[in-house]
Amino acid sequence: MSSAADPNQILFERACAVIPGGVNSPVRAFKAVGGTPRFIQRANGPYFWDAAGRRYIDYIGSWGPMILGHGHPAVVEAVQRAVTEGFSYGAPTEREIELAEAILALMPSMEMVRLVSSGTEAAMSALRLARGATGRKTIIKFEGCYHGHADALLVKAGSGLATFGNPTSAGVPPEVVQHTLVLEYNNLAELEQAFALHGPDIACLMIEAIAGNMNFVRATPEFARRCRELCTQHGALLVFDEVMTGFRVGLHGAQGVLGIKPDLTVLGKVIGGGMPLAAFGGPRAIMEQLAPLGPVYQAGTLSGNPVATACGLATLKEIAKPGFYESLGTRTRQLVDGLRSVAAAEGVPFSADSEGGMFGFFLMESLPQNYATVMTTDNARFNRLFHGLLERGVYIAPALYEAGFVSAAHGEQDIDETIAAAREIFGALARG
Ligand SMILES: *Cc1c(COP(=O)(O)O)cnc(C)c1O
Repeated sequence: MSSAADPNQILFERACAVIPGGVNSPVRAFKAVGGTPRFIQRANGPYFWDAAGRRYIDYIGSWGPMILGHGHPAVVEAVQRAVTEGFSYGAPTEREIELAEAILALMPSMEMVRLVSSGTEAAMSALRLARGATGRKTIIKFEGCYHGHADALLVKAGSGLATFGNPTSAGVPPEVVQHTLVLEYNNLAELEQAFALHGPDIACLMIEAIAGNMNFVRATPEFARRCRELCTQHGALLVFDEVMTGFRVGLHGAQGVLGIKPDLTVLGKVIGGGMPLAAFGGPRAIMEQLAPLGPVYQAGTLSGNPVATACGLATLKEIAKPGFYESLGTRTRQLVDGLRSVAAAEGVPFSADSEGGMFGFFLMESLPQNYATVMTTDNARFNRLFHGLLERGVYIAPALYEAGFVSAAHGEQDIDETIAAAREIFGALARG
């Protein structure tokens, strides 16, 4: 596998000398699964190739953005044209309006939108806006939901509902997370109690309504509905972090799937089509609290970048075509149904779920409802599955707490190949 002569290993050693851990985002380092990260040279359609020239069927899709697969001709053309017109101006462009209009047309809960460059930035800004608009400090988040790495959101639950969270990262002073309440996902009783105790102080509740950062876990319809009701009742803003689910689980995001209208929506990943682009938006009255109109400050040198917006616009144009999500959803279901059936055939405990082009699977009998249950997964078994698939040319997320992604470029043959590879590994897992 990875000997000293493996080009991936050589690159990794070079990278480690100049980049902490050899990577620019931690999960790429294979720390959870062990082994040498693959250095990608190029990608096309549903595949990418590593430094050794080995091909992989790609189920991470840059962690969500590549919903059309890699190198979609219409997107490539739009980006090439944009590049010839200039990389960045620091002055407004018509393309920013076009992208804003395209997003608003597809997300009825949003009346205005601000473009930024990363999901972290969008979530952090939405949080500031929620606090500024309500004049309140307290925020609610859920264990296992990820909203980027802003200080106030790097937090785990404290010892009880009356107490606030503890930082999950060094460098975050406890004072910075002292207004963040961390609750268990899908736990109605805790949710009710939190609002009963802290209602008048709660600025917002931020949630991944279909969570993709603790593998794939849905909020139950009842839980999502109670989040909406309690926010309304207590004057708090409901913020859907749809950085992952926006234009991924369906044309109208998780809010469309659940039929719930949040106050603020955070977007990223797919809306940039693989370029650094993210956004947050909501009702006009709230969004007009932002600078330069209002007192909530927010800014960005590369916000609404002309190349990124060209890429995002071209991507949105493709996914808005009739039948796009039907066929993407069908293809994704073929994958999870196939995995489920070969796992059953080999006698391996397994459960799986999907929505649109996003999926998750678990080496356990039934779908987990929260982070603590996800984390009871047998790491060693997951790692055997991961490396077994990798050796067979199938690249899934190198950590059991990440969701997976199917693109419109994945063909039936790719799915069949994946299921056949999984069957061999399930067989080995069943034999112990
Ligand atoms: C990826 C992600 C983020 C962070 O986005 P970045 O662009 O990586 O900063 C925030 N929220 C959710 C739900 C995400 O999946």
